[in-house]
Amino acid sequence: MIPNSHRCWAEVDLDALRENLAWIRHRVGPDVQIMTVVKADAYGHGLKPIAALLMQSGTDIFGVANLTEARHIRAVGKGWPILMLGACLPDEIPLAVRDDVRPTLSSLPEAKAFHAAAARARKILAVHLKVDTGMGRLGVPLSDAPALVRHIQRLSALRLEGLYTHFCAVEDDAVFSRRQAEQFRRLVDTLDACRLKPPLIHANNSGALLHQPDTHFNLVRPGLLVYGVSPPGKRRSTSRLARDVRAALSWKCRVSLVKTIPPGTPLSYGRTFVARRTMRVATLTAGYGDGYARAGSNRAEVLIRGHRCPVVGRITMDQMLADVSRVPRVRCGDDVVLIGREGRQQITAHELALHFGTVPWEVLTAITCRVPRLYHGATAA
Ligand SMILES: *Cc1c(COP(=O)(O)O)cnc(C)c1O
Repeated sequence: MIPNSHRCWAEVDLDALRENLAWIRHRVGPDVQIMTVVKADAYGHGLKPIAALLMQSGTDIFGVANLTEARHIRAVGKGWPILMLGACLPDEIPLAVRDDVRPTLSSLPEAKAFHAAAARARKILAVHLKVDTGMGRLGVPLSDAPALVRHIQRLSALRLEGLYTHFCAVEDDAVFSRRQAEQFRRLVDTLDACRLKPPLIHANNSGALLHQPDTHFNLVRPGLLVYGVSPPGKRRSTSRLARDVRAALSWKCRVSLVKTIPPGTPLSYGRTFVARRTMRVATLTAGYGDGYARAGSNRAEVLIRGHRCPVVGRITMDQMLADVSRVPRVRCGDDVVLIGREGRQQITAHELALHFGTVPWEVLTAITCRVPRLYHGATAA
């Protein structure tokens, strides 16, 4: 039971996460390792409990965005390799070495700085080299990659463990993604021919897992899919994964007031909504201060007693309004589903993203720290 004191909360189904990881494992097969990406507080699900669950459920490696996230994972369990997906800042280099976090390298100066820091710490640091095949964010240009690989292999305090690239439009653009994949594969083959190929080769995020099973190489990097949300896009996927994963997160609030208003009544800031008929309106205990984007004003829907109810008027910081005219017996204190399933109805992170003018990744990571995360499932403590 959810204690009545919560006004806005997220429920995380740990069994769903465990099953999603098992499904991904099943689809990629036993020879492919899985790096579960847990950046941004495990996509808003809460890093420490999710890291613990993923450790128990057989993740091989963790992908993070910063060293604080890496420390939180280490606090939950020792021994799992962690790859920092972003570039390290100069002052972070000794900390990454100290904490045994694998850095992502894109250039020779970075490699030399890590070599020096690792040598100073009398350590051999595992590193991954990123190759830019079209993302334009991190990574060495393709043509410079073989020389940089050679150089890194000569730095005695570094062990080149991985080589990777990142797709920039894999959910939408099959042609460009194929080109990225081919270029990366050609590089891998060239390195292999010179016996310079690192042990771990990886490219696939969630979208690529669905659309390009031929580029799993020997490690995949799913984020969104682990949490049970399929990346949206123009490309149709034939992968059963898109269908078989289950969303782990539900997001809820409460009804704090129900009232009947006459025609002509304006609602909320800016009077953007005016009742055209007699309406029943519920005040809800969530707003953009919880991460429910103001862009959803007069667009999004919520579930109350299993019915879809339109959000009416501007969403405010802590409260919003819903039209409950068609829902019988709505009462103050009722639960409201912002994301999740109730009866035959479901509101997905994808649907909210469409109303908010964004992507499911942002919907999930935008849920603020005011919203407690409550854990269900066999492994919840
Ligand atoms: C975030 C991230 C991923 C995971 O992406 P999803 O689309 O959530 O699966 C994989 N690789 C890199 C480099 C990333 O930054």
